Formats: sequence, structure tokens, C-alpha cells
Amino acid sequence: MMLDGVDLSPYGMQNENLVEVQNGYLVDSSIVPFLNKLTESAKNSGFELRIESAYRPFEKQLSIWNRKARGELPLLSATGEPMEVPKDEEELTYAILTWSALPGASRHHLGTDIDVVDGASCPEGYEVELTPAECSGMFAKFHQFLSNAIEKDESFGFNRVFVPGRGKIRPEQWHVAHLPTSRKKLEKFSLDVLRRIYEQSDMACKKFVLANLEKLAEDYIYPYFV
Ligand SMILES: [Zn+2]
Repeated sequence: MMLDGVDLSPYGMQNENLVEVQNGYLVDSSIVPFLNKLTESAKNSGFELRIESAYRPFEKQLSIWNRKARGELPLLSATGEPMEVPKDEEELTYAILTWSALPGASRHHLGTDIDVVDGASCPEGYEVELTPAECSGMFAKFHQFLSNAIEKDESFGFNRVFVPGRGKIRPEQWHVAHLPTSRKKLEKFSLDVLRRIYEQSDMACKKFVLANLEKLAEDYIYPYFV
């Protein structure tokens, strides 16, 4: 990539501070003390904070994006039904964005964000899907615990980001971020750099995304810089 001298950490292309926390999941080392405290607090309330997703590099997000565009990964409608891959780039872009972030603009690139469930109430052999149904079902008590902790300012800096009424990404209760750390990282984010990354990437719907990047950022990126 011809982006010499640019800090590429906000885009998942550079991070020297990654450490493994659970089952191979990587996070930025700055959040570890806070994550340990939140895990301990959950444990004291009878929950096992289990990570289902953490740091994700640009290449991984790009691969998800491109495989969805090619129909190699299921493309799901807003209601979760499998749908046909639209021919039109605009339609296809919005269809992918229903469930997947733009490569380079996923909060999972920061290393400060994790997807969590309660391992203690997860049935043996159950494969977690990260859906609203799980949050109001088997993980409801855990999410209530998290909500209470956030409300009482006892969540050690962690908070939800994808909440109802904010931007166009669907609410994700399972996604929590260490906001003081992510804020610092996002200060270095530049849409212009993202544009240059796309220009040099083999990305599906590149033409539409580049032509509409500002509008896409207003709906799918900036609302989550919290
Ligand atoms: Zn997430």
C-alpha cells in the first residue's frame, strides 16, 4: 500500500499493541486492565464474560465484504432472510452494509471493541450467532447486568455503541467498546486516507463506495465516533 508515513491503525492495517485475551481473541493492550475488571465484576454477579469477536484486521473485513458481494457468504436481508445478490452496486452495497461494516471502518479494527456473551448461560455445544433474539433470550440477564453497570458508571469505561436511534447500523447489544481508548484512536481517522486505501484495494462495489463515501460515512461511520 502506497501510504507512507500515514498511521494506519484506525483502519485495521497496523497495531503493535495487540495481546491475546481469550481463545485467540486479540485486543489492544491498553484495554486489558479494564476488561479484567469488567470480567471480574460480571463473575461476581454470576456471569462469565465470554468474547465472541475482538480485533479484526482490514484484510479480514475486506474478505467478508468481497465474499458477501460474490455470494460466497450468505447475504441476509434486514429481517435476516437469505437474499439474492443484487446486480446493482448501490443495492449491493446497502445490502452488505445491513450486517457488515465497510472495510477500514469497522470498530473491530481498533482493538478496543469486543462482542460478548455470557458463557455461563450458553448451552453446551450451542453455536453463538450474535443476534437480538439471543440478547433477549438466553443472555437477557447478562445484558441486564451490563446495562445496569453502564448506567451506574460501573463498567470501567465500556459502553455500547450500536444503540437504537444512532446512525444506520442495526443495534448490537453484544458489541461493547472501551470508549476512552477508542476515542483516542479515532482522532487519527481520516476519510481521505480511507478513500486512498480503497483506491488501492480490490474491493467489491468500489466505484459506488468511492463516489458516495461522504454520505456512507455520515450514516455508517461518524455516528459511531462516540
Ligand atoms: Zn461487534
